[in-house]
Amino acid sequence: MCIFCKIINNEIPSNIILENENFLAFHDINPKAPVHILAIPKIHVDSFNEVTPQIMKDMTLFMQDVAKELGIDKSGYRVITNIGEDGGQEVKHLHFHLLGGAKLAWSHLSDADPKSMI
Ligand code: 5GP
Ligand code: ZN
Repeated sequence: MCIFCKIINNEIPSNIILENENFLAFHDINPKAPVHILAIPKIHVDSFNEVTPQIMKDMTLFMQDVAKELGIDKSGYRVITNIGEDGGQEVKHLHFHLLGGAKLAWSHLSDADPKSMI
């Protein structure tokens, strides 16, 4: 069982922000911004590559609720999902990072030439 499925099953503790029948949002253990939340479906989905539009529809509403719950919906925030090797995905259970609580930087993402594919 993957680490996020263990969090869903309460086998690993987490600091929960919001939960409903199908989704869970909790604090990232290693925050990269003053607000750093992970939103996940309770059903195991490997990554964004595999998720269905139906799950994404409900996930979108859930993440909007999470942003409101955290009070960052007006100030702004960033949603990130890492996919696979190049995306830097460490946990192979679909998750969306919600980052905010401060003005976020938009900087160095790769050592590769950004224009090499143009
Ligand atoms: P990824 O790199 O896969 O996009 O992000 C995985 C995230 O999960 C990382 O930001 C990491 O800090 C977080 N994480 C990994 N293990 C745990 C854990 O056991 N509990 C919590 N709350 N976050 C975790
Ligand atoms: Zn899982």
